[in-house]
Amino acid sequence: MTNRVLVYHKVDVRSEIGITVVKPDQFRRQIEFLLSEGFQIGTLRDVYQNYPDGKRRVALTFDDGYENIYQYAYPILKELGITATVFLISGYLGKRNRWDANLGGIHFTHLSQQQVVELVQNGWEIGSHTVSHRCLSGMPVALIRMELRDSKQYLETTFGREVAYFSVPFGKTNRQILEIVREVGYRGVCGFFPFKYLNSPAPAEFIPRLAVYATESLSALKRKLGSGSELRYEVTKQNVINFCANATILVNSLR
Ligand SMILES: [Zn+2]
Repeated sequence: MTNRVLVYHKVDVRSEIGITVVKPDQFRRQIEFLLSEGFQIGTLRDVYQNYPDGKRRVALTFDDGYENIYQYAYPILKELGITATVFLISGYLGKRNRWDANLGGIHFTHLSQQQVVELVQNGWEIGSHTVSHRCLSGMPVALIRMELRDSKQYLETTFGREVAYFSVPFGKTNRQILEIVREVGYRGVCGFFPFKYLNSPAPAEFIPRLAVYATESLSALKRKLGSGSELRYEVTKQNVINFCANATILVNSLR
């Protein structure tokens, strides 16, 4: 049984036109479903370093570090005895997002330093999601290195924990990013699940993830953790959605 890694973005009662907001009651149903299916759920560190082999394991991750994770997801997970990994944008702690295309006019605030301290004290793991959430593809190497290194150093100094994992903004990784990930000292890098790794092994540091989108059913969730044609279906879906999400990058670059 290979490990599977899920990524959420926003858990909130508010809706936006995008597809990344999962409602709190839906989130609870999904997590309870995974538990009822016998999955062991935890942080990336738990799943990759601490859990014994032979279990059905799922790492739970959150990208962007929105405050709604603290408000809605954290209390549910705490009640269920589950911890998760949250990928923070080091330049945005406590600030409102400016980098998102802001569909629907809703502003989402990022976690404050104090909220992250509480998550860490309760067993959550923090990862880096760069300093600025700019798209790394096509960026000069020195700037990519700065985004990966400075965010890691800042988060480790601020929260006193190793930042072992990195998540690529907009999900797309490449050989150059992988090299810098190794050089800067991360244990792994999270990105979207490309087709090529359905049939061939991924580089050792690469952690393919599947996103959970708004209004997805429990059977969709189950497929993401399955194999063969079920997994292929979900990887295809994510690649189609990712293609559309590139519009966010375009919109941002035009502002
Ligand atoms: Zn992101």
